[in-house]
Amino acid sequence: MLCKDKIESDRHSFEKFSYQNLVESGYSPDRMNAESIKERFPMVNNSVYIDANFNPKAGYVESSLVVEKLTEYACSLGVEIYQGQTAESFIVENGKLQGIKTREGNTFKCGHALVAAGANTPYLLPELQPYMKTTGHPVFWLKPQNPKYFSSPYLSVFAADISNSGWYGFPFLPKYGVVKIAKHSSGVPLHPENSDRRIKDDEVEKMRSFVKMTFPELVDAPLVYTRRCLYTDTLDGHFWIDKHPEIKGLSVSSGGSGHGFKMAPLLGEIAADIVEGKSHQFSQRFRWRHLTPDTVQAEEARGTEI
Ligand SMILES: Cc1cc2nc3c(=O)[nH]c(=O)nc-3n(C[C@H](O)[C@H](O)[C@H](O)COP(=O)(O)OP(=O)(O)OC[C@H]3O[C@@H](n4cnc5c(N)ncnc54)[C@H](O)[C@@H]3O)c2cc1C
Repeated sequence: MLCKDKIESDRHSFEKFSYQNLVESGYSPDRMNAESIKERFPMVNNSVYIDANFNPKAGYVESSLVVEKLTEYACSLGVEIYQGQTAESFIVENGKLQGIKTREGNTFKCGHALVAAGANTPYLLPELQPYMKTTGHPVFWLKPQNPKYFSSPYLSVFAADISNSGWYGFPFLPKYGVVKIAKHSSGVPLHPENSDRRIKDDEVEKMRSFVKMTFPELVDAPLVYTRRCLYTDTLDGHFWIDKHPEIKGLSVSSGGSGHGFKMAPLLGEIAADIVEGKSHQFSQRFRWRHLTPDTVQAEEARGTEI
């Protein structure tokens, strides 16, 4: 977590509390200064980033592999998966869900359904649209000329002044031959299926000036791929895991707000509790709620600079 100022400054409360949380949880993150940043991560511009919190025990997982493993595990437990089916509408009789119709022309009868359709959730259930928005966020792949010093251990997963700038990224990914950089901020509202998800020229320019400032050696690296990735943002930034207030037998588990993946090991149990009519530790926070348009999203990590 690279900081432009001392970690104790108001600018870096996110990094400061992350550091403190790790220490309180028994980890030993390294506190770094400009000199040790240069020594360990030679590509980082240490005239801009003068302080950092580095957790050598941290890492990342490839989300597609995790989903693959979870799918295998679910199947081993006897879960039947119907791939290539797109839920389109609900069959409701007397306020009780009877089944689901798919775009492909099939009907699935059900005792209970849980909608966990990511960015499509507020389109499957339009009553959620005042509270849940689909937003698109830019991802860039750069091909470095000299991958060695952008590879682990010379570069790690990084966040660069993220709660202000929104920028974060990954070290050189040998599988794709690129350094991946992305922006975690407000994004642009869009429709998950009918929108042009191309990255705009001014977003590329902003990425280039971030790279120039942060990794000067990467400034001319060819941009080989861009992508606009989708978040399911709730207005307050909290998950939305609850029963539908008007349709019996229907529940929702969504509202990842750009941080749903890491919570996956806990969310399944919470969603199962909801389906079984139980409460859980976060029942109040994740409930079906009525939020006003002026609701502020509570998330420390999200960049505020546009
Ligand atoms: C660039 C980027 C970086 C991110 N980085 C992080 C990170 O570092 N850490 C983190 O915790 N989170 C991160 N996230 C957020 C995380 O990916 C999401 O919060 C998480 O994937 C949400 O999980 P989900 O199951 O709710 O939705 P999804 O993962 O979107 O899954 C929804 C599934 O439902 C399917 N579906 C959709 N509509 C229908 C339909 N009508 N019928 C049937 N199936 C349907 C979709 O195909 C999909 O398989 C990131 C997101 C992006 C875009």
